[in-house]
Amino acid sequence: MHFELSEEHKAVQQAAREFTQNVLKPGVIDRDEHQRFPAEEIRQLAELGFMGMMIDPAYGGSGMDTLSYVIAMEEISKLDASVSVVMSVNNSLVTWGLEAFGSEAQKQKYLVPLAKGEKIGAFCLSEPEAGSDATSQRTTAIDMGDHYLLNGTKNWITNGGSASTYLVMAQTDAGKGHKGINCLIVEKGMEGFIIGAKENKLGIRASDTHTLMFQDVKVPKENRIGEDGFGFKFAMK
Ligand SMILES: Cc1cc2nc3c(=O)[nH]c(=O)nc-3n(C[C@H](O)[C@H](O)[C@H](O)COP(=O)(O)OP(=O)(O)OC[C@H]3O[C@@H](n4cnc5c(N)ncnc54)[C@H](O)[C@@H]3O)c2cc1C
Repeated sequence: MHFELSEEHKAVQQAAREFTQNVLKPGVIDRDEHQRFPAEEIRQLAELGFMGMMIDPAYGGSGMDTLSYVIAMEEISKLDASVSVVMSVNNSLVTWGLEAFGSEAQKQKYLVPLAKGEKIGAFCLSEPEAGSDATSQRTTAIDMGDHYLLNGTKNWITNGGSASTYLVMAQTDAGKGHKGINCLIVEKGMEGFIIGAKENKLGIRASDTHTLMFQDVKVPKENRIGEDGFGFKFAMK
């Protein structure tokens, strides 16, 4: 067994190192001090193909392997943990899940722009009473036939203000416990979706962490990921 990186992996490492030194380093302290989201830096990261690294090129991704993603994350995190947090949520929590479990229509509509980095995604699981214990979800989504009526609050959501597409876990049937949780795709701008306060954090301050509120948000049924009750498994994958 040998642990040498392949030529492809070395090329990814080199590209990530150059990006970190040339693009991220100049403004990293200023962005952190002023809690300024790295919008332009993320746009350039997307041009490198690093916002959907493991996603099939057919869906706008770069088709790289997991090791490439880890190498890129390692290089970027060394210097700018805010950028790497934005990148990691988009790559692993949002686009990976959409590619693995989303419908073809969801992939075309949501995954493609996320994998290209034209849009940013957020993953919304945590609540005031549901951190480590994700089964204590209090956000509800009532089945109204052709849509769900979503109500609740999510906390500490990375990319909370800068995202366009939100994967939101909600309880659709409290009687079924964790088997009654679903993951719904919510778009910024849906009526009743409110982006709340931004956290004034001690670290990774350029990444925007928000409270999100959902007040009678109508989410179309076709925005549910997977079979009914798949949400908890989806969140734990
Ligand atoms: C910067 C930042 C970004 C975040 N981004 C997101 C995001 O994008 N999406 C999202 O959904 N959430 C996000 N979170 C929330 C994060 O996932 C939660 O903070 C985490 O799940 C822990 O939950 P908690 O803070 O409620 O801590 P708690 O669950 O209250 O845990 C507190 C401590 O108790 C320990 N503990 C808990 N239960 C047990 C047990 N049964 N036995 C032993 N020890 C235990 C934990 O290990 C921990 O040390 C973010 C948080 C931060 C700080």
